Amino acid sequence: MDPISIHFHEIALKGKNRANFERRLQANLQAALGPLGRIKVVRHPGGLLIDGDADPAEVVARAREVCGVAYAMRVKRHPQDDLEGVARTIVEAIRREQPSSFRITSRRRDKSYDLTSERVNQVLGKMVKDATGVPVRLNGAALEAFVVVMDGQTLVGTEKIKAVGGLPVGTAGRVTALLSGGIDSPVAAWRMMKRGCSVDFVHFHSYPRVDRATIEKAEELVERLTRWQYRSKLFLVPLLEIQTAARLQAPEKLRVLLYRRFMVRIAQKIAERRRSRALVTGESVGQVASQTLQNIAAVDAVAKMPVLRPLCGMDKQEIVDQAKQLGTFEISIQPDQDCCQLFLPKHPAVASSDAECAEAEKAMDVDGLVARALAATERLTFRWPAESAAAAA
Ligand code: ATP
Ligand code: MG
Repeated sequence: MDPISIHFHEIALKGKNRANFERRLQANLQAALGPLGRIKVVRHPGGLLIDGDADPAEVVARAREVCGVAYAMRVKRHPQDDLEGVARTIVEAIRREQPSSFRITSRRRDKSYDLTSERVNQVLGKMVKDATGVPVRLNGAALEAFVVVMDGQTLVGTEKIKAVGGLPVGTAGRVTALLSGGIDSPVAAWRMMKRGCSVDFVHFHSYPRVDRATIEKAEELVERLTRWQYRSKLFLVPLLEIQTAARLQAPEKLRVLLYRRFMVRIAQKIAERRRSRALVTGESVGQVASQTLQNIAAVDAVAKMPVLRPLCGMDKQEIVDQAKQLGTFEISIQPDQDCCQLFLPKHPAVASSDAECAEAEKAMDVDGLVARALAATERLTFRWPAESAAAAA
């Protein structure tokens, strides 16, 4: 297989930061691509290069999904000073694609190389123009050839394939996502992965009062999302005792808010044990009664760590489109009965407050309910790709 070069956005990546970033991206790429064949991801002064023996189309398709990759490019490798060879590769691409114009964009990663990148552009430009008759056009060329002069080798490619972007998972710390079976929370969790966070998942269920459908959905969603972080933990927390207590002991209109406050308290305990630094929810302002600004504040009042809401400014349609791209939509729309729908009040409070909720909770054994839910929590581990899980086992 010809090598594939991997590029990332370099803004704000300096010094030690950059080395961490590159090492993490290298490890994540190796995890994602390893099962496709004999693959080696190598760090060079100029970035990352994938070498080995596998179907290059499959390698590119998977590499594009790895968070932190801005774009991937299939390249040809030549000896460092073999500019004739590089020119031949570009001529072949021009004969294949018949562009009306071209340009060369080269970078000199090996600063000891004796030609400047400007000079490499000129030399190659002339050779290619003489061989094909196609004119050079610096602005808006129909074909752009990217040349990188590296340590002992020169790479050339003509097609940048856009990838997911963001930061490599594992460079920004851990967060804990509250995952319902709905459309929004999986998208919220993914957005945090894309910002470099490792995401733990917590799902609350009302089993055995309702069937295991939401639990199965949560498992399927986590399995799908593990594609972007290679290893995930899902915590399954029974909420039924808390819901029953709220139904019997608290005002009906506050039920959903009280469920949410318990969810936050419990998720936070799980997060603390896992050294996670923030909670994540799929809320978007104003979407439903529990998501008014007043109610968000009433829920946040019991949080001791930041509650991140990466979808807060998104429209439902944008969230749905993203869920479809991620492949979580089809899982989320399977019918189920989310725990929040159990004992649903006819008229939920739209503008409650911390004080009102705290007053209602006086009638409840808050600490005991939290402790018992935690004691009954189950923990599952997921790995992706499945091939590597088999190899590791
Ligand atoms: P979603 O599509 O994610 O279910 P939603 O629009 O249905 O969101 P709500 O039902 O109000 O909104 O839930 C808001 C957020 O609360 C969810 O995005 C999720 O983060 C969290 N949440 C709700 N139910 C659960 C649950 N059963 N387990 C874990 N988290 C939950
Ligand atoms: Mg929901």
